[in-house]
Parts: sequence; C-alpha cells; structure tokens
Amino acid sequence: MSGPGVYVSIPFCAQKCTYCNFRSDVYSRPLRSEYLNQLARELCRAEIAPGGTLYFGGGSPSLLEPQEFSVVSSNLPDGGWDEATLEIAPGEATPDRVRAWAACGIDRASLGVQSFDRAVARAAGRKHGPETVEAEIDRLVAAGIRTISVDLIAGLAHQTPATWSRSLEWVERLAVDHVSVYMLETDDDSRLGRELRSGGTRYGAPDVPSEDLILDLYLEAVERLVAIGFERYEVSNFARRGKRSRHNLRYWTLQPYLGFGSDAHSFDGHRRWSNVSTAPEYVERMKTAGSARATFEELGPEQLLEDKVLTGLRTRAGVRFDSREWRKVGPRAEPLVAQGWLVADGPSLRLTDRGLLFADEAIADLLA
Ligand code: SF4
Repeated sequence: MSGPGVYVSIPFCAQKCTYCNFRSDVYSRPLRSEYLNQLARELCRAEIAPGGTLYFGGGSPSLLEPQEFSVVSSNLPDGGWDEATLEIAPGEATPDRVRAWAACGIDRASLGVQSFDRAVARAAGRKHGPETVEAEIDRLVAAGIRTISVDLIAGLAHQTPATWSRSLEWVERLAVDHVSVYMLETDDDSRLGRELRSGGTRYGAPDVPSEDLILDLYLEAVERLVAIGFERYEVSNFARRGKRSRHNLRYWTLQPYLGFGSDAHSFDGHRRWSNVSTAPEYVERMKTAGSARATFEELGPEQLLEDKVLTGLRTRAGVRFDSREWRKVGPRAEPLVAQGWLVADGPSLRLTDRGLLFADEAIADLLA
C-alpha cells in the first residue's frame, strides 16, 4: 500500500510579493538554519512510509542552498515517491540547486511565474522575465525533472488583455504539462489585498483590473488551454493527459496526508491537526515543547461531509455521496441543478462549466 502525501513547508522567500497571502516571509539566515534543524527533527521522528507523494511548498523551497536542502531531504525516505514536487520562484533554479533536487528524487517542478510580462511581475515584487523561466525549465528537464507546472494569476496590477495574452503565448510555447490559473484574491492577508479594500494607491492598486476583466482573462485562459489539449480537472488546475497533480488530488479526495513545518496541516481520514503558523513560532515551540502542534480535531460525519463538499466539488469529477449524506445534500442540490450550476447523476454531483465559475457560491449553498 502506498504511503501518505507528505507536505514539507519551507516558509522563506527572497522578497514578499504584494499579492501573497501565505504565511511566508523574508527571515534571517540564522532563523532559517534553526528552522531547518527543527524541521529535520520533526521529519526524523515521523517514520514516513515510502511510496506516497511528496510536496515541498512554501514560501520558496527553491531559495535553499543544496546543503540546506539536504538537512531536510536526508530525513525523508530515499526516493520511491509516486510523485515528488518542488515549488520554484523563477530565478532561483541555479544549476547546483537543480542537481540537488534531482538527486533527492524530485520529478515535478511547479514554477510560480504568475506573469510572463516583466513589468507586471516587477509590480508584484518579482524580478523574472520570460527568458529566465524558459532557461530554468530547460535546466530542470535536462536534469531529469520532466513534469513542469506553471502558476499564473489573473488580475495583477498593470495586467491588460495584451500582457495576459502574451503570458498565455509563453505557456503555449514552453509546452508545459500543467498550469494553475488563479484569480487575484483581494482579502486582508496580502498587502495588495488590504490596499484594494481600503481604497489605497500603493502596490499598483489603482491599476488592478476590474472584477469583470479578471473573469474575462480567466475565461480566455480556459479557452486557450483547452484548445491546446489541457483538461480542466479542478477549478484552477489544468493538465495534459496523465499529468494531474497526484499530491493535490489527495487533498481533494480526502486521502491521508502529513504536513511538516510551520502552517502545515495533516489528515488521517478521521482526524486533522496543524502546526503553528509562522517560522519563529515553529522554532520556539519545537525547542521548548518538542512539538509544534497547534490544533487537533476528531472529525464527525458532519465535518467529513463538509470537507468532502468543500474540496471534492471543486474537481471536475465531482463527489459521490453515501445514502446518509445524500439525504442531506440531495434536496439542497436541486435548485443548483435547476439553475444549471450542478449536474446530478444518482447520488453524485459535479459542477457544470458555468458552475465552475461559481464554485464558491455553489459550495456555500450546499453547506448552508
Ligand atoms: S508569492 Fe511565493 S515567492 Fe512571493 S512571497 Fe508568497 S510564497 Fe514567497
């Protein structure tokens, strides 16, 4: 039987991007070193079964130098992963680092490009241009890291239909296997989001596209990606045949996963738990208490049903319910089916193309 999904959190970044709402930051080298030592301790104690999926996320795991990376990777099973992904901030995939990733069994790279337009990327706090991304993809593939995913964000400051179209041209030209397309989130967890909500002018806030334009940009991406052979298998995720993210599918289908490091979450099918949110808290808690756990929950049938809808309905395949669950969900689904957002097939539900655009609203109605 295959092991769990393993998520390793590396919450360090070279800069804090304006749109970023993750619990990552620009921390000092000494803190980074302490964090990696404590993370190695947490991994070493876990006795992870091999054969599952591995995901280095953050933050920018690509920021670690090879010797820092090995502090962590030497405490993981030695290869044999079903899939092993590392998130990369363009500009950080140096030859030494790429060799270290390949040697530890990384076979999938997820590049947080967000925009291939230099000015849009710069306004968001990034320094890369399209040539950097192209050269780094070539380097990754040459090292044996052959599955390449890129992230794009629709709605960044200064983005226009023309710059968005050029970004999509680069995706087409680079022949990547997987693309994640997100619409800009304007919540209070990012600097740009706070600026937008308060009507401020910093971080290019006045030059953020309107909600209608963001939706148009997203729809253009859907159309163009599908036209060149991508399947939209989740609201924001597109893959070529056989290239879906197996790690993320574990989250969406409620299979067990274990998270290590700050802000990492775990689930074993009946219980879920999480670590403290930030790197300084993580180091402190690991040193003083020997554990960074912050929450622990036994999940009852109601919570498991809620999780099933929250995660599963965002996938193209949708969700199949047992008879007890269907008695609750079925009647609430009827108006959404009539509205054309959901398709029901026996006790199964999935979102239509139109419903995928309103996934959050549909999910909220089903859980009301
Ligand atoms: S977007 Fe990525 S690279 Fe930028 S601050 Fe957030 S985690 Fe770091």
